[in-house]
Amino acid sequence: MQFIDLKAQYAALKDEIDANMQEVLNDAAFIGGKYVRELETQLAAFTGRRHCITCANGTDALQLAFMALGVGEGDAVFAPDMTFISSTEPAAMFGAVSVFCDITPDTYNLDPASLERQIKAVLAEGKYTPKAVVAVDILGNPCDYDAVSAVCERYGLALIEDAAQSFGAEYHGKKACSFGRIATTSFFPAKPLGCYGDGGAVFTDDDALNDLIRSLCVHGKGPGGKYDNIRVGMNSRLDNLQAAVLLPKLKALADYETVARQTVAGRYNAAFAGKFTTPFVAEGCLSVWAQYALLAEDTKQRDRVIARLTEKGIPNMVYYPTPQHALPVFRDEPTYGETFRNANDYCARTFSLPMHPYLTEAEQETVIAAVLEAL
Ligand SMILES: *Cc1c(COP(=O)(O)O)cnc(C)c1O
Repeated sequence: MQFIDLKAQYAALKDEIDANMQEVLNDAAFIGGKYVRELETQLAAFTGRRHCITCANGTDALQLAFMALGVGEGDAVFAPDMTFISSTEPAAMFGAVSVFCDITPDTYNLDPASLERQIKAVLAEGKYTPKAVVAVDILGNPCDYDAVSAVCERYGLALIEDAAQSFGAEYHGKKACSFGRIATTSFFPAKPLGCYGDGGAVFTDDDALNDLIRSLCVHGKGPGGKYDNIRVGMNSRLDNLQAAVLLPKLKALADYETVARQTVAGRYNAAFAGKFTTPFVAEGCLSVWAQYALLAEDTKQRDRVIARLTEKGIPNMVYYPTPQHALPVFRDEPTYGETFRNANDYCARTFSLPMHPYLTEAEQETVIAAVLEAL
């Protein structure tokens, strides 16, 4: 059994993926090329965004967003305490501080009340300039965009949606990647829409930001092309080969994978209700279940369950064992007295089970029986 079964997905999509990859080899068009252009068009249409700019990975996508928004020395970037380091790591490289906020106890996403408290604390201190908010759709479950956008508007901060885990998710009829001035995603193989290596994308509705980000992706190219460098940029592009792999996968995600993920999550929810804290998806939201995470009673019970699963050869993971504020790299970031009660509690109790659209009912029954037995 696989935690995320990429072999089963390849078996289902082999003919299309093989044919596309062969075409790239025949054309010998590796950088840029027709699949990259087609993918950007389809991703923009799928998410309802005016522009999609593909790039080398999800961390670069966030770095491009920070560069495009002018995040720099002395700026403060706000993000949930429970996320992957990429959410604010690139901002730190430009001299910005990461100000972490607590998460809500139900969705585990950015808590708008904690966000507002942290913004006020930064303003009151007067040392840093509040600049941007990174909202993360953690585990594939969309953040509360109505509440978070309202806070961003009140303080004039740019909102970035980190949709690395949530491609295909929905919030009140709008797709993930459609929120904020800029949204970013990752095509790391294990993400809901993954390629066969590294890849990422940036989304925006703003024509000027689109032009700027396209320039930043190619060494700050100017109107005269790639040898007319007008600013310092990056070398961050998606390979044509990866785009060729992603096109059939995008179709599968839209046609049946997202639905299949709901079925798998539904079976887990039914089996574990009342025994663990099961995931909560807010009214009007659709999660893509990048991970299926349960909360045990406490760390001791969690560790006992995962030790038993590992013993029985059942894959399991902890996303994430450490909240951002407690990572050695972020030890010196200002916390403004925030206790991160919910993030600490979540990290102490969480564990994740095999979750992917090709998980069979029989495999799932094995997992469920093992979890319940360990309990
Ligand atoms: C995976 C991930 C990223 C980074 O994506 P890469 O393609 O691995 O660079 C950023 N943010 C979150 C929340 C992620 O889970």
